[in-house]
Amino acid sequence: MLRRVLIAVLVIIAITTFSAAQPRSAGSPDAEVLQFMQDLVRMDTSNGNETKAAQYIKAVFDKEGIPSEIFESAPGRGNIVARLKGNGTKKPVLLMAHTDVVGVDRAKWTVDPFAAIVKNGYLYGRGSDDDKSLVAAHMEILLQLKRENVKLDRDVIFLAEAGEEGSPQFGIKYMIENHWDKIDCEYAVSEGGTTLVKDGRVVYVAIATTEKILASFAWLRTVPLGTGPYLVSTIRSNIWTRRSVNCSTGSPR
Ligand SMILES: [Zn+2]
Repeated sequence: MLRRVLIAVLVIIAITTFSAAQPRSAGSPDAEVLQFMQDLVRMDTSNGNETKAAQYIKAVFDKEGIPSEIFESAPGRGNIVARLKGNGTKKPVLLMAHTDVVGVDRAKWTVDPFAAIVKNGYLYGRGSDDDKSLVAAHMEILLQLKRENVKLDRDVIFLAEAGEEGSPQFGIKYMIENHWDKIDCEYAVSEGGTTLVKDGRVVYVAIATTEKILASFAWLRTVPLGTGPYLVSTIRSNIWTRRSVNCSTGSPR
């Protein structure tokens, strides 16, 4: 089941991200994904406002009979969770993506960043790659699983969270601290990696297994009385600390 979901994720992401030039028939899954993507990109979620996107997603799921809930961590900062039930043999898999986007400097854009236009085979817009394409792909996966009445041996949880771009206290941090029971899972599939589709064929699939590992370090800096150079020493030892100390002291260690 997991392998099937992962393949579906990868293929749909590929279709969404790279094959805008391919012809698509109305009502096909890739046409549907493109529509989701365009609708989401047209919502400016660069300053929060993720609830708007969550409500849009909820309306899609409601129409298909997929239960979902919106959890607001603050006014306008909505996270949405949906779940397809499996038979409980295995722990759930979580499909997660974020609905917020980083800010826009319009002077640097050659198109309206929130128009979601398709030009020369590519969809242009803030969040078209990071991360509304993944939100749309995950939506489509749930729809396909539901429509095909796929028998699941684990729940498939959908999470579209707020605040990934620098304010996780409104998104994933909030969900973990307040609604862990809604997203508790064995595996989580999130952004990272990439897939290239050319002429309708998957050329390659790249998978990122992790990212943004925390490398914490701390300095203890003491200044001797009188003159003399700063004395810098570490109170925790790892490569980043040593590198930082070297920069500060100017002396190799
Ligand atoms: Zn992202």
